[in-house]
Amino acid sequence: MIPESHPRYESLITRDRIVEGVEKGITSLHGLMAQGRGEAFDYLIGEKTSKSAHRAEKAAAAVLLLAKRPVISVNGNVAALVPEEIIRLGDIVAAPLEVNLFHRSEERVNKIIEHLRSLGAGKIHTKSDALIPCLEHERAKVDSEGIFRADAVLVPLEDGDRCEALVKMGKTVIAIDLNPLSRTAQTAHITIVDNIKRAIPIMSEFAEELRNSELAELQRIVKEFDNNKNLADAVDEIISHLRRAQK
Ligand code: ATP
Ligand code: MG
Repeated sequence: MIPESHPRYESLITRDRIVEGVEKGITSLHGLMAQGRGEAFDYLIGEKTSKSAHRAEKAAAAVLLLAKRPVISVNGNVAALVPEEIIRLGDIVAAPLEVNLFHRSEERVNKIIEHLRSLGAGKIHTKSDALIPCLEHERAKVDSEGIFRADAVLVPLEDGDRCEALVKMGKTVIAIDLNPLSRTAQTAHITIVDNIKRAIPIMSEFAEELRNSELAELQRIVKEFDNNKNLADAVDEIISHLRRAQK
């Protein structure tokens, strides 16, 4: 047991959840490395939601509410870290979930689907009968009624190639990625540079707040959001945090 008073409590608990995910067969071994990379950036960010991340989370909530066929992509790290939270967000914005794995195996896909269902998930797209163009076969598999025909996709902790391929298909892509310099972060339309554990609940709060808003208000929020500027702000916030930490 890790005592709550431990200065790295949150981070250690998160690691435990990823390890547990691997043991249950829902998270891949590579997921451990992805988490390590994420943690390093979270340290640089100061392990809190920055102003720029907050803005991106609001714009992302508006995009999901405006979308006609939104889908939330779930991988092994997401399923281990925030399963309940992602189910709740999906419910609020009426976005079905779809399990989409970089290191795909049918066994792991099914385990994640079962895991999400056991926690009360509603609609999950479970077919793999379509392919995202320009990607190698296993990494391209999606549901023809899910990600394939979605107009907006939330891809937390996504790989750069797949993010780019989804953008090329004409979808509005929202990424959650602690590394503001990753190809995913640089390619998505809305990049949330925040830990997924903090980002999803904040997106849900925004979605609840905005869900009865006029269409025009939601469109204004999306139009006023500038991802390039926001990413530059995210980098500036990291630099300021490092300067403060050095003193
Ligand atoms: P890219 O493919 O976009 O160039 P990459 O190859 O460096 O990036 P991947 O392993 O493909 O990275 O994707 C994992 C990404 O997820 C990393 O950028 C990492 O910072 C991020 N990440 C890991 N854990 C979290 C987390 N808990 N919250 C948010 N982001 C995370
Ligand atoms: Mg990658």
